[in-house]
Amino acid sequence: MTTTASVDTTIRLIDAGTEQGSTCSADLAAGPWAFDLLAPGYGPGASMHDVVPPAAPRQGELPVEYREADADELDARIRAAKDALGERVVILGHFYQRDEVVAYADYVGDSFQLANAARARTEAEAIVFCGVHFMAETADLLSRPEQAVILPNLAAGCSMADMANIDQVEECWEQLLELYGTEPDADGRVPVIPVTYMNSSAALKGFCGRNGGIVCTSSNAETVLEWAFAHGQRVLFFPDQHLGRNTAKAMGVPLEAMPTWNPNEPLGGNDEASLADARVVLWHGFCSVHKRFTVAQIEQARAQYPGVRVIVHPECPMPVVDAADSYGSTDYITKAIAAAPDGSTFAVGTEINLVQRLAAQYPQHTIFCLDPVVCPCSTMYRIHPGYLAWVLESLVAGEVPNRITVSADVAAPARLALERMLDAKPPAQRGA
Ligand code: SF4
Repeated sequence: MTTTASVDTTIRLIDAGTEQGSTCSADLAAGPWAFDLLAPGYGPGASMHDVVPPAAPRQGELPVEYREADADELDARIRAAKDALGERVVILGHFYQRDEVVAYADYVGDSFQLANAARARTEAEAIVFCGVHFMAETADLLSRPEQAVILPNLAAGCSMADMANIDQVEECWEQLLELYGTEPDADGRVPVIPVTYMNSSAALKGFCGRNGGIVCTSSNAETVLEWAFAHGQRVLFFPDQHLGRNTAKAMGVPLEAMPTWNPNEPLGGNDEASLADARVVLWHGFCSVHKRFTVAQIEQARAQYPGVRVIVHPECPMPVVDAADSYGSTDYITKAIAAAPDGSTFAVGTEINLVQRLAAQYPQHTIFCLDPVVCPCSTMYRIHPGYLAWVLESLVAGEVPNRITVSADVAAPARLALERMLDAKPPAQRGA
């Protein structure tokens, strides 16, 4: 499907029966407040395996004036509030955010690009992060203390990030240290280095900082794993097993040296021998959005569009990454499409808001989502223009709603883990 309509519009047209196609849940056509106040859940389209942790923040009821306002009214109110705030506010929109919110963003990018963009806007007193909870935490870690980071809907968590909580990781770590000990080998490498994906809570980034570990993004995962192997005999990688497996496999680590760790089982569901031989212990986490992509979809795209280039995100399962023509971060995907000759055809395995935006941005190409079912990231989707209007008007009124703050005891080691990431250089840049 190549279309320039927004994902939200497409969903409404499908729901109304005026456009062909299917969505992963009919509830997607409703406003997020329709399910924000129900039992904890990630909303329509989430995987049944996504479990919201009991301590996850809950959004209070959005005032009725914002729930009942139509798109034109919300647009006028958002623009008026943004104008009134001027340089005092910066709005960040993640690549996977709906177009109806991205329209107001000062910057659009991945979570780390956005956190850095916010840092550069030193005059902004408020950073409104239209993404998910861990992204707002990262922005808080990197921003100045007097800047308030605001998440318009507190129910916008990330199911993958929530698959590894600090208690489970501490317990896993204890078991691994008991098994491996703490003594470095002859080369000075410690038995195990913790590596967390950017898509994790600040508590886990802090854990890595405290335990000689590091953070990675999907752009620099290989560089970070190289750093980790230089400092440790093996790696504990969390929370996304697929990014860990795809990256380590590309570096030559055999699959049998990558056991998965299920936090609900003793020794993560492994025996001591397999853990002793491990090079990368992979936490049993995944992204519900990227897990939807399949090899059958790739075969279908190739049958339908001879010459199609299949490009997927490394959060996809390994067989999908192996079957694709190439894989990489959102930054890699956008650059690959920008650099392609006119008339190229791309089947893209990443979140549909980004794919449809790329299709609109590059009409000279044919660009479509590998998954024919319209299924946006259900947590990102909870940032609706109604919530954006509410937080901006609250700021105009002198209130600071939904502020996300990382406590100082977590922030210091979390920043250390981020600094190690920034200092880890790819081989080509070392010594430069
Ligand atoms: S796309 Fe996946 S990893 Fe990204 S915020 Fe949504 S659930 Fe989390």
